[in-house]
Amino acid sequence: MVIIMLGAPGTGKGTVAGILQEKLGIKQVSTGDIFRKAIKEKTPLGNEVAGYMEKGLLVPDEVVIKVVDERLNQPDLENGVILDGFPRTKEQAIKLEKMLAKNNKKVDMAINLITPEEEIIERISNRRVCTNQECKAVFNVTMNPPKQDGICDKCGSALIQRKDDTKETIKNRLKAYYETSEPIVEFYKEKNVLYSSEVSTKINKLAEDVAKEVVEIIKK
Ligand code: ADP
Ligand code: ZN
Repeated sequence: MVIIMLGAPGTGKGTVAGILQEKLGIKQVSTGDIFRKAIKEKTPLGNEVAGYMEKGLLVPDEVVIKVVDERLNQPDLENGVILDGFPRTKEQAIKLEKMLAKNNKKVDMAINLITPEEEIIERISNRRVCTNQECKAVFNVTMNPPKQDGICDKCGSALIQRKDDTKETIKNRLKAYYETSEPIVEFYKEKNVLYSSEVSTKINKLAEDVAKEVVEIIKK
């Protein structure tokens, strides 16, 4: 099973993907996480992508595609994957089809999350993420604070604010998203695999609710 997470930064893609990973037993792969790890470890890939990420700009297609192609061919993803943060451009979506086709696979579901922009900015600037890569829990200092300041409720590791979660960078990331997202959403709609949902406190619908709906659809 191949699931793709679509939606602007801060809509709750990571949260939905994390729940699906647990409930469906298939791994979540986040291109953003792969890049952040590479930057931290100062690998050649890390050096190549750091400048783009700090500014909130998209990493060039050829770089991202190579990373994903390598990752998809690893044995732990044989039964499926939840891709979070890829594809981000139509070019990437087309390449992904080809990579999957080589292994007789295809995208089974593209989950598109929609959140009002002011809510996104509020959410991202208050976001804190768990530094434990096996946990990756996400908190919000106003909406969903951890019990103890700076400590993850789930695993006790330190929480941090992502370096690119600043007001200025968020604006660039949203701009990059809105410029490239529509053709991708259209692409999966035409393939009849698109599942769109609003995620907003205004309608009292959270990422957790979307994840529950998706699990029900898949298990049917
Ligand atoms: P968010 O969706 O919250 O912005 P991500 O962790 O998905 O965060 O991505 C962080 C950054 O990593 C992006 O701003 C971009 O620079 C880079 N990146 C991640 N995935 C891709 C991709 N598929 N194509 C191009 N750049 C990417
Ligand atoms: Zn944690």
